[in-house]
Parts: sequence; structure tokens; C-alpha cells
Amino acid sequence: MNTQQKIQNLRDELRQHNYNYYILDNPTISDYEFDMKLKELQILEDAHPEFFDANSPTQRVGGAITKNFNTVVHDFRMYSLDNSYSKEDLQDWETRIKKLVDGEVQYTCELKYDGASMNLTYENGKLLRAVTRGDGVQGDEVTTNVKTINTVPLQLKGDYPERFDIRGEIILPIEGFLKMNEERIANDEEPYRNPRNTASGSLKLQDSAEVAKRPLECLLYSIKGNNLNVSTQFEGLQKAREWGFKVPKEAKLMNSIEDVLDYVAYWDEHRHGLPYEIDGVVIKVNSLYQQEELGYTSKAPRWAMAYKFKAEQVSTRLNEITYQVGRTGAITPVANLEPVQLAGTTVKRASLHNADQIEKLDIREGDEVFVEKGGEIIPKIIAVDLKKRPKHSQPTIYITHCPECGTELIRPEGEAKHYCPNYNGCPPQVIGRIQHYISRKAMDIEGLGGETVALLVNEELIANYSDLYELSVGQVIPLERMAEKSAENLVNGIEASKQIPFERVLFALGIRYVGETVAKKLAKHYKSIDALMNASVLDLVTVDEIGERIAESVVDFFSSDQNKNIVERLRSFGVQLEISADKLANQTDKLNGLSIVVSGVFETLSRNELKKLIEDNGGKVSSSISSKTSYLVAGDKMGPSKRTKAENLNITILSEQEFLKLLK
Ligand code: AMP
Ligand code: ZN
Repeated sequence: MNTQQKIQNLRDELRQHNYNYYILDNPTISDYEFDMKLKELQILEDAHPEFFDANSPTQRVGGAITKNFNTVVHDFRMYSLDNSYSKEDLQDWETRIKKLVDGEVQYTCELKYDGASMNLTYENGKLLRAVTRGDGVQGDEVTTNVKTINTVPLQLKGDYPERFDIRGEIILPIEGFLKMNEERIANDEEPYRNPRNTASGSLKLQDSAEVAKRPLECLLYSIKGNNLNVSTQFEGLQKAREWGFKVPKEAKLMNSIEDVLDYVAYWDEHRHGLPYEIDGVVIKVNSLYQQEELGYTSKAPRWAMAYKFKAEQVSTRLNEITYQVGRTGAITPVANLEPVQLAGTTVKRASLHNADQIEKLDIREGDEVFVEKGGEIIPKIIAVDLKKRPKHSQPTIYITHCPECGTELIRPEGEAKHYCPNYNGCPPQVIGRIQHYISRKAMDIEGLGGETVALLVNEELIANYSDLYELSVGQVIPLERMAEKSAENLVNGIEASKQIPFERVLFALGIRYVGETVAKKLAKHYKSIDALMNASVLDLVTVDEIGERIAESVVDFFSSDQNKNIVERLRSFGVQLEISADKLANQTDKLNGLSIVVSGVFETLSRNELKKLIEDNGGKVSSSISSKTSYLVAGDKMGPSKRTKAENLNITILSEQEFLKLLK
């Protein structure tokens, strides 16, 4: 078998496994085996760029950056839907339809997936482009991002039309959404509000590798095109399934509006058992011939109707308002409710967000309140049942002092939240900061968990994260549930963290608003903690993606003597406070502002090594040649079309040796 065949076979095989896993939900090999095959393909593709295919399974991991999304005019306009809210609304709709068309009418009922609409165009079985709905006439092209979504086939199967559009909803299943939020909370970042906004926000991320990390899915509901050889909506759904798309099985064909009403009632009750959120049902006249007869209003098809579910609401008693203190000292008021069933789960607590929210709704302990679960997963209180307010009820007075340490709270100008300013003495802040420091994405200290941190602080063995490095086995053993072996593991784990690279140490410090990505940016730019500590706000905001809010927070952090002292202690214990020498030696600004395309096979370096060299030296790797390309680094077997294109655009072509000289 020649290499090209081998690559082709691997692509086909991986595509099939992808389909089994994501569409059929029925994998036939382990994740590990899948990864190994993908790796094998990646290596072959790297070595043979002449067989590049933009729709290869390797292209799903993302990595391409989009600065501006192009506007694209849809081939077929994307209409909105008319809404209905009751049985009567639907019956009226049926009456209107029956006046306009002859014969029996059948309906396809589908769930109304709550996400972001997407139009995918396929040509010769390959994904050509993905465009958001926009204003219905034109939308933004987000192909690079959508390619990373596993349920979007890059290559179709079976007997597909030559060119067509298919529409669907990009959604974020609830489980994946909750996982993303767990991580955000662990990073002390504000959790995402609901899956819908998170899904649609994901489509506009500039870094497609970030999109690839999110467990998005695409559920399809309609095909559009000329000569599709399909005569009903339901048939269209079945065909789409055969071509490899994910079309939920809940879609059903109904013979009368009475059956439609049963379908609506069923899903209103059972929707919470679905792995994703829906906000209603969509009913479509099944025959495409009848659809054509019915046509469109200026806004929506006459042949389709959305039935919107009411957000579920219950009323229950608010027993008590308590206050939580976060790692940054932020106070969150919490409503402790009389447990009540809502949307398939028992609700005991709801967030009250902040003091303004409590005041606006005049929420008081003892009140009967209405709790709703709409688009948001976390239930919220939407109103007080004033008729049921107890006689001697008193307005809520927001706390003025920290419930954990008694310090007077402050409310920074322009912020909705109150904060406990007792940075060094407030237990949840002190413990929370150390817990963050040791967490997996920060210093990843093995053998030490969050509860042990709390114990160590409460026993006064440590007061901040720099104290960890002075802990001895002897000090730790007397702690509850601590055997000698685990004490040793703990001390070894702390010792090992001295090797963690600077960018992660910077994240671990727990500077407000300095998350993982910002820490990376700052580490790359300043290269050492000393340079960063000396940076002013004006200086910081010149760094790519660093705004005033982050800059001020960094300056604020290092202006504290206490923090400076902790940093010095970390230094004395040997924690990495600068980019390591060998990494630094390879990093320069020599290619700053240059956009470089790499093509072909090279003698001394792999393509990935070459790309890394470009990035380490400040350049940008770009995948296609345009007038903005600064250099084309050309190896063996580069495609002739690339060379011609570069020559036509007058772009300098460098050999591997010439490129390496450039860096000297
Ligand atoms: P609206 O945004 O309220 O005008 O509703 C129209 C939107 O519902 C469409 O743009 C789709 O994104 C979305 N939708 C979700 N599920 C379906 C479905 N099964 N059929 C048609 N549209 C759907
Ligand atoms: Zn406090």
C-alpha cells in the first residue's frame, strides 16, 4: 500500500469511528486506540503535506485563529419562526392552513433545540462553509470553529446531493456545560449563565483550539437546495441521517393537530430528561409541495410554527438568607429555600446575586417566593408573593460585616458585589487562595487536597502558600487521617512543584482576573516576575489582550508588602519565577509582526518544530498564502500551486537553511 492510500484509509476509518461515537453513540474502539490512530495519521500528514486535506479528521483539533469573521450572504434566506403558546393558538394555525391548501395535512414535530442557528453548506460531500444566521439574509462565516464540532461531518456518506445547505442548532449539552462551569468556579471565574449563550459565544471565539475544547454538538433539522429529490420534511430528516448528520430521533410524523397537541404535552412534561435544553417544539407541514403553496410572511414561513414552553415556576418559602465568602473575598447572598420540586430536580438554594437584587425585589426571610428555571440552570427567584408576606416581616438589611471574620465589608465603585477586605485574615480567602495554588491547573501538587489545606491552616501550620515549602513530615503526621506514607507524599509533592514553569506559578498566585490564558500572556511578555512587578498599568495595557481591569489588579497585587514578601519566600525556596533559561534562549522578537507560511518537507526539522520556532520568535504561522504573507518557507515536495501563488504575489521564498539564518 502506498502512503497516499494509507492516509486515505486512516481518514476513512477515523471518520467511521467518529460517526459511531458521536452520532450513533455506539463506539467500537477505545478512546486510546482512537487517539493512537489519529496520531498515526497526524504524523503521516506532517511528513506528506502534499496530501493535505482541509476536511481530514486531524483538522478537528483546531488551532487556526480568526481575527475577523467574514460576512456571507445565505443562498437561501434563514427565516425566523412564528410562536404559539396555547392549544388554541395551534388550532387557529391549523384553520388558517386548511384554508390555503387542499387535501390532508401531515405534520412533522421536532424539538426546538435551544442554541445558536447554523447553516452548513456542503459541496461534493465536503463541508464548504458554516455561517451563522445573522439577520437571516447574511451571517458570519465561522467554518474554522464549526469544524471542531464532532457531530458536524466533514465528509458525507451515501447518496448525497452535489450541493446543498443544511440547517441546525449548535447546542451545549447540560452535562458539558456544568463541567465547564465547575472549572470556571475552581478558577474563581464567574460561571457561564446558560448553555445557549455559551454555545453561541463559542462560535465567535478567535482561537478554534478553544472551541475544540468545548463539548458542543450540532443537531440538524432542515435541508435546503435545488433538485434535492425529497418530497417531505420527514424524508429530509431521514436522508440527512443517512448522510451522517445527527438528527434527533424524537422527531415524529403526526396525522392531525390533536396528535401534535399530544406530542407537545408529552415533551412539556418530559423535556428535563433530555441531555440538552429545549425551549419548545417546532411543528412543520410535512409536504414540501404544501409548504410551497403556503409560502412565507416577511418574517417566517406560514408552514411552520414554534410552540414555546412556559418557564417552569413554583412557589416556596424562603427560610433564610446566608452569605458566602469566595477566595477573592467576594460576598454572594444565597437564598435557602424550603425544598421544592422544579423541572425534575429538588431545589433548595438559589443565588440572590448581590445587594441590589435583594433590594429590587424586596426579598425578605419568611417570604413566599416564586422560583423559576428558565434558560438558566441555576434557579432564580423572580418575585415575592406579597399577599402571603408574614405580618411582622422586616426588610432585609444587607450584612455590613464579613460572616467569616467580622471585618467591615467594602463595595468598590462600579461593582455590584461587596468584598471582605481582610485579605490575610479571612479564613475562606486564606484557605481558598492556597487551594487554588495547589490545584491541578496551577501547581498541581500531588498528595495534597483541599481539605488538608483547610486543616493545615486551621492548625496554624501554614498561613499562605509560601509556608507550604517549610512543612516537614513530622509536622504533618499528627494531622487527622494522615499516615506516614501520605505525609511523605505530601512533602514530596510540594518539593516537586518547584519544577512547575513560571507561567503556571503566575496563575497559581491567584491575582484577581489573571486566569490561565492571561498568565501565559504575561509570562511570555515579561519573562520574569521581577519585570512584571516593575510594570506600570500603562506598560501592562500595551500587552496583547491585557485591559485596564487586569492591569490594575496586577499592580495592586504587587503593591502589597505582604505579597512581595511571599514572592521573595517562594524565590528563596526555588520556585520558578522566570521563564527557564533554555526556553528563554529560544525565544526572541525577531519575527515580530511577520506572517509565515510553511510548506513541504524539511531536512533537519519537522514541520511542527519549524512552526514552534516561528511562534517562539514572535512570528505567526498562517496556513494559506495571501498578500499579507511575509515569507513562505519552502521544503521538498511543496505543491507547485503554492509556489506559483507566492511568486505571483511577490512573496519571498526561503529555504530551511535561509530561514534558520534569519534567526541567527
Ligand atoms: P426564533 O429564534 O424564536 O425565531 O426561532 C427560530 C429558531 O429556532 C431557528 O432559527 C432555529 O435556530 C431554532 N430551532 C431550534 N430547533 C428547531 C427546529 N427543530 N426546527 C426549526 N428551527 C429550530
Ligand atoms: Zn472576611
